[in-house]
Formats: sequence, C-alpha cells, structure tokens
Amino acid sequence: MQYYSIKKEEWDKTLEQLLLSHTIFAAVKNEFGLDYELIKPEDIAGISYNIPKPATPLKSFFLPVRENVTAVRAPQKPRIILGIPNCDIEGLSLLDSIYLDEDFDDIFYRDRRENTILISSDCFGKQEHCHCLTYDIKPYSERISDLAAVLLDGIIMLRIITGKGEDFVRKIPQAHQVTDEKIMASINDKHKVAEESLKSDHISLPGYSKTGSLVSKPNMEIFVKYSSHCVSCGACTTVCPTCTCFLLIEKPGFEKVKQMDACQYPGFERVAGGEDALFELKNRFRNRYLCKYVWKPEKFSSIACTGCGRCIEACIGKINKNELFIELAK
Ligand code: SF4
Ligand code: SF4
Ligand code: SF4
Repeated sequence: MQYYSIKKEEWDKTLEQLLLSHTIFAAVKNEFGLDYELIKPEDIAGISYNIPKPATPLKSFFLPVRENVTAVRAPQKPRIILGIPNCDIEGLSLLDSIYLDEDFDDIFYRDRRENTILISSDCFGKQEHCHCLTYDIKPYSERISDLAAVLLDGIIMLRIITGKGEDFVRKIPQAHQVTDEKIMASINDKHKVAEESLKSDHISLPGYSKTGSLVSKPNMEIFVKYSSHCVSCGACTTVCPTCTCFLLIEKPGFEKVKQMDACQYPGFERVAGGEDALFELKNRFRNRYLCKYVWKPEKFSSIACTGCGRCIEACIGKINKNELFIELAK
C-alpha cells in the first residue's frame, strides 16, 4: 500500500490549520481511558496514536442517540475523525450496507458519511477483551477508512486507502511519499506482532464460521444461565458498533424523532395489541446473539460482531459473550 510521511510536529500544525475549516474529533487518553474528544488547538499534542480503543463506538458519529428527522438541518462543517480502530471501521461497513441500502438510502446517514474523513489508527497493542482477529478482522485497516495513521519514531505515516484519503494527503505539502521499503517493513512487523498477540489470547474462542451454527443450536439452557445475570440495561447494544435499531416517535405538529433502541429493553417487540414475542428475558437475551450471528450474516454476508469487546466491558451483570461461546462449543 502507498504511504506518505510527515514529521509529527508538521502534522500537528496541519491539524491546527485544518481546525479553521473542519471539526476534528480524535482519540485522546484521559483518566478514564481512551475516548474521542472534540479537538481544540491546545489538545492536538495530546492526541493518541496506535492505542486500542476509544470507549465510544464510531457509530455514535453517524447514528445519534436522538434526532429530529423532520427538522431543517443547518449545513455542517466537514469533519475529520482520527484514531478509529479497525473493529469500528468494519462495523461501519455493516452500517453502510443497512443505511445506504439501494432501496432505502438514509439521507441523514449519507450526509454524515460524505461529510467525514475517516482516519483509522493501527492497533499496536490490545485491550483485555479485544478479539477482532477471531472474526477475521485485522487490527489495522486496509479498506473503508480513508487513511490510516501510524506514529513511528516521531513521524506520522499515512497509509492511503481511498481516493478521498489520497486527495486529503495531496493537499498537505509537508507530506512526502515513502519509498523506503525498510520503513514499510517495520510497519508490517508491528502488524504481525499485534496479530500474533491477539491470536494467542483467544485460541479456544470459536471463529465466525462456527458462531451462527452454535447460536442456532437448540441449547437454551446456556442462554437461560447467562441471561440470569442480565438486568436488561441495553448497555451491550448501546456500545456495540454494529447495533442499529431505532424507534420513530411521532410528535405533535407532524414531527418525527428517531431514537436509538435496543432489543434488550423490555417491550422492544411489544405491539399495539399487547403481544410481545420477546417478553421473556431469556428470549430477549438470545435475540441479540441470533441477530448478530445468524440473521445479519444471512442478509448481509457478515456477522454483526467485530470483536471489539465493548459489550463485555459494559455489562453490569458481568456477562462475557466469549465465555458463552466457549461453553456453547463444548
Ligand atoms: S436487534 Fe438487538 S442485537 Fe440486533 S441490531 Fe437491534 S439492538 Fe442490536
Ligand atoms: S457484540 Fe460485543 S464484541 Fe461484538 S461488536 Fe458488538 S460490542 Fe463489540
Ligand atoms: S449489558 Fe449485560 S445486563 Fe445489560 S442488557 Fe446487556 S447483557 Fe443484559
């Protein structure tokens, strides 16, 4: 792949210039961990590179928790999101399949997608629950994001992924194309180290070719057992980069408000006559697994789990879906 390099201090100055015309969100480490922040000039030096993973899923930038879809929207400044892990980039690919479907093009989603430059960040480390590789997702991006950024010995290396990314880099005069194969080899070495480390962590976790059949097995006892710790808070779906369910709420004056929903909430499937196919907790709990590992692959040829591990970290009942899968596979 093609790389451009720019000294870190020049890159920081470039970001400062870009702030005049763009809104920039970037991954920044704070006392609670890593998360996206709206960047001001004084924050630029503190942007984190190559550390997994921001607490907030990327989908939050494209699917707000609540928005009025009948209100007139003011034009937005172009936006840059910097420091996105590949698990979230791959999650966005599924959101694209859903929201940019040829029969249903969501104009709000499209506007935000077109208005955003995505700069992913190669993960050179991992968090406890990262398991992207189990689902064949690499800890670095080679598609969908516009660019990927790597910080190497005081130099920012920018891997070109899309035409939009290439146009962006070509406008930075201080960025030069990299021809030194040793530099590219050292990035490849870092990729290999990250992959080996992820591989060794999850040897017993079933890969995505098996997840669908495991969830489909009539093995309800395991779901009953794990769901007994579930309090239906919906945190697992809220933090998930691929969960997309929403409600459309009618408001007085013909207004409509789109609000993110979650199949783990009681009443998610209740209909006007009072029937509720997911009334029982065990069925709601299993619904999430069926959705992600059986129904989404049938419709979109991809499981709806990118192995980010956020649902495990967020669960108030300390439910670990990986432990559930290992038990299902026994
Ligand atoms: S049905 Fe549940 S698991 Fe599927 S997208 Fe909606 S909230 Fe997520
Ligand atoms: S199901 Fe869990 S691990 Fe998979 S993408 Fe969603 S939050 Fe991440
Ligand atoms: S985060 Fe845990 S407790 Fe909350 S709905 Fe999901 S599985 Fe249940």
